[in-house]
Amino acid sequence: RAFAPLLTVEGLQVRYGAIQALRGVSLQVGKGEMVALIGANGAGKTSTLRAVSGMLKAAAGRITLEGKDTTSLKAHQLVPRGMAHAPEGRGIFPNLTVQENLELGAYLRRDTARIEQDMEKGFTLFPVLKERRRQLAGTLSGGEQQMLAIARALLSKPQLLLLDEPSLGLAPQVTETIFRTLREVNATGVSVLLVEQNAHLALNAAHYGYVLETGEVVMAGAGKALLESAEVRRAYLGE
Ligand code: ATP
Repeated sequence: RAFAPLLTVEGLQVRYGAIQALRGVSLQVGKGEMVALIGANGAGKTSTLRAVSGMLKAAAGRITLEGKDTTSLKAHQLVPRGMAHAPEGRGIFPNLTVQENLELGAYLRRDTARIEQDMEKGFTLFPVLKERRRQLAGTLSGGEQQMLAIARALLSKPQLLLLDEPSLGLAPQVTETIFRTLREVNATGVSVLLVEQNAHLALNAAHYGYVLETGEVVMAGAGKALLESAEVRRAYLGE
């Protein structure tokens, strides 16, 4: 791996009552790296992200960010440490405007002058959000809501952006726009941990990938290498 370690997850277990959703997941995301987590429905992708971002309690295992143990920290304690999560279902506030949703992304920041500047940066990444800034977020299209979720997450100035299924329910062209922008964001140094059902898209964009099956990592490798693996092609690319 050509990147210095940023996030390290070791032996992560998650349980929902009697259901063991994660059976000891280990993975790494480097500084400036884009990492994809792929796998079938129910494999544990969302549970992994939720545990990493402090939305869910780990039953066992250890999570560190820049060498500091964050295993038992909650989401609101992780945001100031540079972690931002654009969750499944996007988590935007439908009855607030686009602008208000973006302002919430910056709620922990005190550098108000820079927030304005960073909001403009977000509008450069997704120009449609600027046109819609006074519109209620709930009236945006699915693609626009996804863009808003990403732009809002970026306003906390994360080192690590966690993204759950950014392509879900979106037309291929919109998905393409979102992934192009994600690569741009990643190229500025923001690390990305991306959960995707669309394995082809995710592995193409990512430096490195992990394949989850029933709560365990069963394969890992460079994005391009996984794309070429016969097993991945058969199981996840429908070939
Ligand atoms: P998908 O792509 O369908 O979202 P996933 O890979 O993200 O799937 P998870 O959502 O992490 O998978 O789910 C992993 C397992 O945990 C599944 O068997 C699921 O049914 C179970 N699970 C998830 N959330 C809960 C919950 N709140 N209560 C009980 N079981 C849950």
